[in-house]
Amino acid sequence: RFNTRIKGNYKYEIADLAATLNYMAEEIVRSNQTKDDFISSISHELRTPLTSIKGWSETLISGGYDPEETKLGMGIISRESDRLIGLVEEILDFSKLQQNEMKLSIGIVNVKVLLQETILNIWAKAEKKRIVLLLECDEAIYVKGDANRLKQVFLNLVDNAVKFSHEDSSIVLTAQRFSASETAIIVRDSGIGISDDHISRVRDRFFQVDALNGGTGLGLAISQQLVELHHGKIEMNSELGKGTQVTVILPLTDELPSSMIVTEGQL
Ligand code: ADP
Repeated sequence: RFNTRIKGNYKYEIADLAATLNYMAEEIVRSNQTKDDFISSISHELRTPLTSIKGWSETLISGGYDPEETKLGMGIISRESDRLIGLVEEILDFSKLQQNEMKLSIGIVNVKVLLQETILNIWAKAEKKRIVLLLECDEAIYVKGDANRLKQVFLNLVDNAVKFSHEDSSIVLTAQRFSASETAIIVRDSGIGISDDHISRVRDRFFQVDALNGGTGLGLAISQQLVELHHGKIEMNSELGKGTQVTVILPLTDELPSSMIVTEGQL
């Protein structure tokens, strides 16, 4: 009986080991595939603005353009350079996070102001698709963190929402106290949605449902890691064809920003 039990255990262990090895092999194939996809999509993402910058600078150097055309060309060069800088910064941020080298500059952040600033930053882009951005936010929600990095998270989430929303739709940002110690900040769109098959993978680095949409597939991976550095978490719910809801849960703080602390003498 003893022997059979040992044999039995071995059988399970070997089966477990085989399953684990299989899973690892699949992961390796999958991660190599996503890395290959990443390299091809990042090359494309870098080449498009570069081609445009090169084309316009050569055109302008050759001269003979009226001030209006010159201004248009310069505007495109400046916009495309910003796009390149954004891409390179995203890759650098990702690599800093991978190496545990992301430094946060911690302060007290007013969530309403943070979301208002996010909306202001993305307003023009949303307007091009006639998308309305709405904000529903409780007063006086404060979190402890790096205001710029948290803004980066919400810019990424709202940017995705705009990118994957239909024209003439709306995106709603809500922030409320979720529990005594946490706030839930939700970005909700009624765009193309994400299928059940893909929802668990969209936060993986390099992953994109469709590489043709542009981007690096790093945005959500970076956002997730930044939120984790703030002791929070991101939850995603989505229905294909209906829309997506991303919830960021962050710990609240009782501390007030120094600008709001009034000393006795000032009262
Ligand atoms: P990218 O910069 O390529 O958009 P992200 O990590 O931000 O990378 O997103 C990964 C993928 O998740 C996107 O390419 C898209 O397929 C999917 N996705 C993210 N947000 C949404 C959304 N709000 N609606 C539909 N799909 C989304």
